[in-house]
Amino acid sequence: MHPRIGREEKTLLAMIRLYCLHKHFTTDKLCPDCVELMTYASARLAQCPFQGEKTTCVKCPVHCYKPVMRDKVRDVMRFSGPCMIYRHPVLALFHFADGLRQPRKE
Ligand SMILES: [Zn+2]
Repeated sequence: MHPRIGREEKTLLAMIRLYCLHKHFTTDKLCPDCVELMTYASARLAQCPFQGEKTTCVKCPVHCYKPVMRDKVRDVMRFSGPCMIYRHPVLALFHFADGLRQPRKE
């Protein structure tokens, strides 16, 4: 797996965790719904045609999520996005930088 994809996965997991904690009142583990979302997202990332050249998913020209999952992940981003800069400043910074990248297929 490309390190860029590994980092994306880490960022996503942190965001889903925050979301689940506050929205689904879980404590240490994700609820089954969020586990499903994370599993789905990881599978999409593994298949991403851009890999190292990947921009952030929001800006990606390829819409690879199925609509129901896209809605879910959008909700997670909307909720957790603003918290990331405080809770995970390093990941948030990388994520911002990744968003500046122009996607190119390898
Ligand atoms: Zn949850």
